[in-house]
Amino acid sequence: MSHYKLHSHCFLTKGPLRSIIVDLERRRYETIPCDMHDLIDSFKDGHANWAAILDPYAHEDRMVLNQYLDWLLTKEYVFKYDTTHQNLKPVPLIYESAFLVDSAIIDLSSDSKYSVPKVLAELAVLRCKSLQIRDYDGYHARALTEAILMADDSFVCNIHVLLKATERSLALAKLLLTSPRVSSIVIHGCSARLISDLREFSDKRLTYTPTLVTNEACCGAISERYFTVNHRCASLGLFGNTCLYKKISVDRFGNIKNCPSSIESYGRLQETTLESALEDQHFRSLWHITKSQVEVCKDCEFRMICTDCRAYRKDMSNLLSKPLKCNYDPYSAQWSA
Ligand code: SF4
Ligand code: SF4
Repeated sequence: MSHYKLHSHCFLTKGPLRSIIVDLERRRYETIPCDMHDLIDSFKDGHANWAAILDPYAHEDRMVLNQYLDWLLTKEYVFKYDTTHQNLKPVPLIYESAFLVDSAIIDLSSDSKYSVPKVLAELAVLRCKSLQIRDYDGYHARALTEAILMADDSFVCNIHVLLKATERSLALAKLLLTSPRVSSIVIHGCSARLISDLREFSDKRLTYTPTLVTNEACCGAISERYFTVNHRCASLGLFGNTCLYKKISVDRFGNIKNCPSSIESYGRLQETTLESALEDQHFRSLWHITKSQVEVCKDCEFRMICTDCRAYRKDMSNLLSKPLKCNYDPYSAQWSA
């Protein structure tokens, strides 16, 4: 009698027309037919024996099921399970965060009149670990660079910077890269000449694009390119929102929001603090919207690896409406242009 079991770092998600199998260790996923999903589901705990599973099927069908099993074993999604494996503990899908804020977004443009050092100081008090700073027009790029380099006592360990291409952006990027906290820099709106200069520069943290990011409305795109196959996204997605959970933002006008594209503001930085905004029950209510609650997404095979967007929705009057910028239809398994 042979028993097989799904590795605990793998999981299945079923859609209307097809399913996916996700491997969190190798950070990859593959689409599979729904009948393969059902087959794996029937033996994945290691309790059912393979001969008993095959028993009701005709000879030709058994050949197909055996081919499925060979493929699953070759890909190391499943393994042959016996009594020697009984003490193996599954890897739990648990997301834990000790602090009130996990991530933040700060937007900057020529409209911004608030103090970046003040925001950084408040984020340090809140023990925020990850920060994204988006500079749309280069107006405050120099002050922003200085503020990041001066924030020596900050708790932030990952800073992702979006910089508008200007004559000074390469010099500022080089300065920023002297900070170990800066994890990535993207320079947007690059001319062909700047791109040629940037090609000489070999720091992997620095990337560039000719596309101009003009304001917060450029955010919220959903695409296969942005699917996130990792333990954090899969475990967080079980109970929280994969974009907004424990996130706080300051838009370019200094309004405190869940994200800079959100309509609701929880006060201006000049008049209140990030900590006060976090105390608002409504602010935190968005943190717990999961994909299994969102219309269409709840049926989609990609729901466990797709990030969410609550700011741009198909139906803005419905908080649980599908993300506006998703062109995937799980009921036809097609991406439209
Ligand atoms: S909710 Fe949407 S617009 Fe806001 S940060 Fe997330 S993806 Fe971007
Ligand atoms: S339907 Fe929802 S889960 Fe599926 S790809 Fe679009 S946004 Fe992601």
